[in-house]
Amino acid sequence: MSGKIKERARETKKQFHSLRSLRTAYTLLVLLILVSAGLITAGIYIVLYMLGFIPSAALTPLILPVIVIISCMIIGTIMAVFVGKLFINPLRRLISANEEIGQGNFKVRLSEQTVIGELNNLMHSFNSMADELESTELFRNDFINSFSHEFKTPIVSIRGFARQLQRDNVLHSLTDEQRREYTDIIAYESDRLARLSSNILMLTKFENQQIVTDKTEFYLDEQIRRTVLLLEKEWTAREVNIELELDEVKYNFNEEMLAQMWLNLIGNAIKFSHRADTVLVRCRKNQNNICVDISDSGDGMNEETLRKIFDKFYQCDTSHKSEGNGLGLAIVKRIAELANAEISVISHQGEGTCFSVILPLSE
Ligand code: ADP
Repeated sequence: MSGKIKERARETKKQFHSLRSLRTAYTLLVLLILVSAGLITAGIYIVLYMLGFIPSAALTPLILPVIVIISCMIIGTIMAVFVGKLFINPLRRLISANEEIGQGNFKVRLSEQTVIGELNNLMHSFNSMADELESTELFRNDFINSFSHEFKTPIVSIRGFARQLQRDNVLHSLTDEQRREYTDIIAYESDRLARLSSNILMLTKFENQQIVTDKTEFYLDEQIRRTVLLLEKEWTAREVNIELELDEVKYNFNEEMLAQMWLNLIGNAIKFSHRADTVLVRCRKNQNNICVDISDSGDGMNEETLRKIFDKFYQCDTSHKSEGNGLGLAIVKRIAELANAEISVISHQGEGTCFSVILPLSE
């Protein structure tokens, strides 16, 4: 039995138990009303008899049922009012909290301290749902803020420098070097914008995709070698050495998608390496899987960065000194999900980082 099914079975058993205990409580309540009615009736009967209101034992069969009915009605009504409050008040709070959620207030929470255990469970489920909705809402707002910020920054920069170049008085007062600097910035920011758009489009496409199409068989080691060649300009510019230890492995998947994963991971390893560092890419075929490790001896990451690296738009260096837009690892994560691959990262500040991707062996 899989973990999910076991979990489901446990949940159903729990719900069954809680339903049973609610039924027991209800039965006990009815029993309590009857016993109380009986006792009070007996009490009233004795008092009336001692006060002489019941003159003869012969009348008892007539009076007793009347007293029982009246006392049952009174006791039942009083108890129903009090006990009903115990049920109704929390349910009322639950209904109004649900209405608030419906109106978009995800901050509302309910007390889990009612006297009825089952209602506490209900309140707990409601609070968990509200937690989940609130974090989704926060995530959505965060995404929209980051998205608009990432788009606006290069546009403002391009517009500013283009306007400077448009102004006759400014244009003529600029030196050749300044003019080149301005046009370089415009070109750089346009590239950044183009990269950002294509990364967002790619991520959206992968996120909406549930089935991987265009699967072909190819050599994984060859694909990694080609990726390294594609990044030659980057590693030569930074004087980073690349070391490859690749087993010959055939793999069946969407070739373009997997190539994007290596491009982002190896690209990052180069980007965050120091001059003359070495980036090691290893590919090992095991009995049940293929393990690809990409390690560098760059700056490494602290705990907080490690926790957030797969978030969209997250960059440790918020000044955007390093190229990129914080979408590379979000894309990697989505491709890994589609490939049923596991991805893990070990990093130590000042020592370097190692990303490991474990791909299941294709059938
Ligand atoms: P970016 O476009 O900034 O590279 P990513 O999503 O690829 O965005 O990476 C997110 C962040 O994770 C980076 O900004 C960086 O802080 C951190 N990071 C990723 N890979 C490495 C690495 N190999 N070494 C150190 N930090 C890394």
